[in-house]
Amino acid sequence: MTDCLFCKIATGDIPATIVAESERIVVFADLSPQAPIHLLAIPREHYADVAALAGADPTLAGELLATATQAAQSAGLDDGYRVVFNTGRDGGQTVPHVHAHVLGGRQMSWPPG
Ligand code: 5GP
Ligand code: ZN
Repeated sequence: MTDCLFCKIATGDIPATIVAESERIVVFADLSPQAPIHLLAIPREHYADVAALAGADPTLAGELLATATQAAQSAGLDDGYRVVFNTGRDGGQTVPHVHAHVLGGRQMSWPPG
């Protein structure tokens, strides 16, 4: 997708603070962090949301989860963290390229807003 923000981050056309990357996944710092550690893990390939990704390529969906949790571990979030896929309008998704938020470094509350 040529006009997708996260596709452009994946190709390096838009700069981001990248903390991990592999052939199919990129993990970078969120521009507007909601916790002391706030990372976004994305597949390089464009899928609109987690449902589209899981339906089309469950292996890649698993790799995305594994990479997101490895990034949490590498960030030292030994006391826990939250992994979130905001999905669609009611889910609060604002960027239509699937991304796992990894949030940690503070006590999370429940229910979320
Ligand atoms: P969503 O609201 O779709 O679940 O999450 C989108 C996330 O992308 C937000 O947390 C927002 O701060 C982050 N974001 C939006 N634009 C940029 C950007 O240009 N660079 C980075 N690193 N993060 C961004
Ligand atoms: Zn995209």
